[in-house]
Amino acid sequence: MTYLPALKDTDPTIRDLIITEEKREWDKMRLIPSENYASHAVMEATGSCLTNKYSEGYAKKRYYEGQQVVDEVELLAIERAKEVFNMPHANVQPYSGSPANMAVYHAVLEHGDTIMGLALPHGGHLTHGWKVNFSGKTYHSSPYELDQETELLNYDKILEQAREVKPKMIIAGYTAYPRTIDWTKFREICDEVGAYFHADTSHITGLIAGGVHPSPYPMADTGITTSHKTLRGPRGALIVCKEEHAEKIDKAIMPGLQGGPHNNTTAAIAVALKESQTPEFKAYAAQIVANAKALAEKLNSHGFRLVTGGTDNHLILFETQASKGISGRDAAKALDTAGIVTNCNTVPFDPNPPFKPSGVRIGTPAITSRGMKEDEMAKLGDWMSEAIDNASDEAVLKRIAGEVEELCQSFPCPGITPENWQ
Ligand SMILES: *Cc1c(COP(=O)(O)O)cnc(C)c1O
Repeated sequence: MTYLPALKDTDPTIRDLIITEEKREWDKMRLIPSENYASHAVMEATGSCLTNKYSEGYAKKRYYEGQQVVDEVELLAIERAKEVFNMPHANVQPYSGSPANMAVYHAVLEHGDTIMGLALPHGGHLTHGWKVNFSGKTYHSSPYELDQETELLNYDKILEQAREVKPKMIIAGYTAYPRTIDWTKFREICDEVGAYFHADTSHITGLIAGGVHPSPYPMADTGITTSHKTLRGPRGALIVCKEEHAEKIDKAIMPGLQGGPHNNTTAAIAVALKESQTPEFKAYAAQIVANAKALAEKLNSHGFRLVTGGTDNHLILFETQASKGISGRDAAKALDTAGIVTNCNTVPFDPNPPFKPSGVRIGTPAITSRGMKEDEMAKLGDWMSEAIDNASDEAVLKRIAGEVEELCQSFPCPGITPENWQ
């Protein structure tokens, strides 16, 4: 049977591009820590007729008729979100993580209020108050930084800064922080200075759902997560909050910021939340961390300096400039040629500019979804070191790419079926 038969008729160019991307995702070791492989079940819900329906508003309070099915889908996603995150209210309509944060700020802050999030070059997200982002322009941002000595969160210093600048909100949860976050410390700091505690668990939600990272709930006042990172769902996001913020949060999403929700995505989020409660997912979450620790150890043994010295979660940030005399960008480019996909990243207190940073950021969520374990991490660490040491030797990089591709054939990607390409 022909694969993607309708696309073959209508738009063979897009069909070819999709198949080429499937092959890329199959043949490479994908180490970008925010990426993953969504399951076939998640893909089916995402590609369903639910994409056809308009349903502005909320269940039983919609503007258009014909919501018999969509209301059930959304209510189920909400119930599952409340249960997984142990919070009394959930909104599953945000289009993605950035608008989810925007909606939370819109709901509980006034323009010009002071917010404190981790500075972007230290591992914070753009939407946590960085100056070029709406969050840094609409609100008065006073970013906190990591400790220069340890490269860890320094809760005493964060408290000191909070006492000084009196933020209305403190944001915790990061895009490039390899260590466990002590949410109770943030709750205490927020209580001490009268700030809202907003948790953004986008990167680590799968670890939280799988029980291998502590949860900020029900401690946090508000929280968001993307659904497509360690949670392994569709591209999307959700918000959870305490009951007192529920109405304002819902209004901030609709009519405040968005129109009709993406019901196909909502259904796929419900599927991902269900999958996250299985014993298999628990094992998956634990293996993500075990793999990250094994890979970190290997890279360390090859002389790469690891930010904070290692990892507690899915993510490793390692230094290449001082360790190996090559920029993070050039290292990431060499790795990509060698079939290992990463991204360059600043390290805390990076002496180099953001477009040529000193480090590389990697993570194990996607390769762990393929069933790779510690043995594969050891090989991967060796290949990475060899590729970076031979960054300008095309022949070495191509040879490694061949070996990577061969290994990948034994580790099927969820959601992709190579037999389709025959
Ligand atoms: C990925 C991420 C986001 C933004 O998600 P998008 O879906 O890309 O808008 C927000 N916060 C954190 C901490 C993230 O890691």
